[in-house]
Amino acid sequence: MAPAASFDVVVLGAGAAGLMAGAELARSGASVLLLEARARAGGRIWTRREPGLAVPVELGAEFIHGHAVITRNLLAAAGATVVDAADLHLTVHQGELERRPDLFPRLRQALAAAGSVLAQHDMSFDEFLERHLAATLSADERQRARRMAEGFDAADTAHASARAIVEEWLGDVLGTGPQSRPRDGYAALIEALLASFDPAARPGGAHGLHLESVVREVRWSPRSVALAGERAGAPFEFRARCALVTLPLGVLKAQPAAVRFTPPLEAKRSALEGLAAGPVIKVLLRFRTEFWECLHAGRYAGASFLHSPHSGIPTFWTPAPEHAPLLVAWAGGPRVPRLAAGHPPEDLARLAVESLQTLFGSGVDVAAQLEGWYYHDWQRDPFARGAYSYVALGGSAARAALAQPLEDTLFFAGEATDTGGEAGTVTGALQSGLRAAREVLAS
Ligand SMILES: Cc1cc2nc3c(=O)[nH]c(=O)nc-3n(C[C@H](O)[C@H](O)[C@H](O)COP(=O)(O)OP(=O)(O)OC[C@H]3O[C@@H](n4cnc5c(N)ncnc54)[C@H](O)[C@@H]3O)c2cc1C
Repeated sequence: MAPAASFDVVVLGAGAAGLMAGAELARSGASVLLLEARARAGGRIWTRREPGLAVPVELGAEFIHGHAVITRNLLAAAGATVVDAADLHLTVHQGELERRPDLFPRLRQALAAAGSVLAQHDMSFDEFLERHLAATLSADERQRARRMAEGFDAADTAHASARAIVEEWLGDVLGTGPQSRPRDGYAALIEALLASFDPAARPGGAHGLHLESVVREVRWSPRSVALAGERAGAPFEFRARCALVTLPLGVLKAQPAAVRFTPPLEAKRSALEGLAAGPVIKVLLRFRTEFWECLHAGRYAGASFLHSPHSGIPTFWTPAPEHAPLLVAWAGGPRVPRLAAGHPPEDLARLAVESLQTLFGSGVDVAAQLEGWYYHDWQRDPFARGAYSYVALGGSAARAALAQPLEDTLFFAGEATDTGGEAGTVTGALQSGLRAAREVLAS
């Protein structure tokens, strides 16, 4: 067998973090190889463009949360248009969809006032709500706060760190900044980063991206790494001075191990225990027309989010201000395993349609409007094993600990390692990739 090819750095994974890190390393002149298990780059960013549909089908990430400077700058450099999402939330109340007072500003105030207790002593989000917010928020408001943590953070509030949720909700991601979308989808960002790996664009550059290359084993000692796995069924081995690991949290936590590290990552054990890979269900329902825009004399036209807290699927959103016959059905947190367990995707699509029917009432036959649906099971996906990470109780230091390099040889990036308040997002992934690439270069 020929000796294994050798690089300065091998990056595991070509999602947002891996591509960002790879681009930065390639720019500095390092020889860098990206190994990606899937047949496509992008990871949990997966845009499909469907004929006849004016908006992209985003199976994974869709929104740009807050100011997200790195993300917006990359999209601008790629010439992509960013559109602010509409901000009209409607909620089912006594059988009617209506605008309800926005809880979030009040919630932020209450969290800011009570949150100082968490500096000394963290607790679960449930305990925090019941012990410290019962006087300021009604039972209904506390329940809505819980649902928000499930929906936005994909968190199980009985085990999630209140400190982490409060910090996040008082920060930029969910705060007062805009919520936007890349109009033609996040793929533009991935395509722009991928251009750095086009050998034609950098003649002589010793870097590359191998798709369909599943890493199974990482043997490492100070300043030396051997990576083994298989590419389209055939074994491979590469050597490098160091490896930059961007594997999703769910993959790093998998038991039995999905990627075997020798010696094992003992130093990461408590960091991995302090973080959880949150589950979500996202079903994109495609209809014949944007029928909801005409219901009730146009009362729902321009609505962005539709909430039906007591339905099987509690949250929907429209493409507003864009017009397209696509509604996204969304559920996150502990209800996801219950909804998804043993059910084929068709059942989830059916449940989404039933939930929409209760939301819109008897004025329309939602099922008769349905043309098709799109879905990806991120929990069962062996290269994701969850949607995105949240901090479990006791895990306040876990993101920073997971990000720490080992022996100047293994470096870590990925959304779960972001400590800039944007973990769980594309922005967090990009930031972490840049941070880890700079750590490699500094070493
Ligand atoms: C349904 C859904 C909706 C979301 N919505 C939003 C949103 O609206 N806004 C937002 O900002 N974020 C959103 N996110 C989160 C966002 O997608 C992620 O935070 C971000 O894309 C993670 O990037 P990453 O590079 O850290 O990980 P990934 O994108 O997962 O990249 C890791 C890569 O490693 C590869 N890999 C795994 N195992 C191996 C192996 N053994 N060998 C080689 N390669 C391997 C994977 O295939 C993957 O490409 C959403 C996520 C999901 C699932």
